[in-house]
Amino acid sequence: MSRKKIVAGNWKMNTSFSEAADLVEQILAYDTDANVTKIFFPPFPYLKNVSDTLAVKTGYYSGAQNCSEYEHGAFTGEVSASMISSVGCKFVLIGHSERRNYFKETNAQLVSKIQQVIKNNLVPVFCVGELLAERKSNNHFETVNHQLKEVLRHFTKEEVNNFILAYEPVWAIGTGETASPLQAQEMHSNIRTCVKELFKEQVASHIPILYGGSCNEKNAAELFSCEDVDGGLIGGASLKADSFCKIINSF
Ligand code: PEP
Repeated sequence: MSRKKIVAGNWKMNTSFSEAADLVEQILAYDTDANVTKIFFPPFPYLKNVSDTLAVKTGYYSGAQNCSEYEHGAFTGEVSASMISSVGCKFVLIGHSERRNYFKETNAQLVSKIQQVIKNNLVPVFCVGELLAERKSNNHFETVNHQLKEVLRHFTKEEVNNFILAYEPVWAIGTGETASPLQAQEMHSNIRTCVKELFKEQVASHIPILYGGSCNEKNAAELFSCEDVDGGLIGGASLKADSFCKIINSF
């Protein structure tokens, strides 16, 4: 079955307003593979501008790096899914390891956030991944399956059919150490099997699973050639137009 190919850039808390605008303009000027969906996750204050700039070209979308678990109200500093939708975004990152580990987001909060995302017709890019200690103790499959089950079981087959998943081993994020194609493939295949057990084959074979963790223009082609790797969630290398476009063109 042919699945969507996707390359997404998570800019985290990087770039100034003008650097963000320049980066998008530079990327749009490149000749990139039209069969690849491109998603940009800039910081919140730049979302409207980035969304408007991307809207001129097909296949380019913006998304938020996080959203509130609440709908609206007295939650100082929070940004709701409806606000994100109103500035032209289509996607929201949920459960990134930096949110889980630094901000102690729980599975219950991730469920509420995804409920808000769905309610506002946005698509969740739901991230899972094990810590180094969990891999070293050979608990990586168990950890990732637990993260998947604790959240996905709250949603219907029809809802999950619209999700994007991202496998991001925490030991590979921002470290320069990448999962080998073998490690990525075996985990992506395990994730697909877990989705199949929860929701049947049709959802499992359809859902895109992205790899994230020190993916760059040198290792992207090898990773993207794995049967169950449908693209990448890129951190550091998404901040340079040339690197990001080379990654997009790595399928
Ligand atoms: C990320 O944080 O989503 C990520 C994959 O970062 P990096 O590519 O820098 O490892």
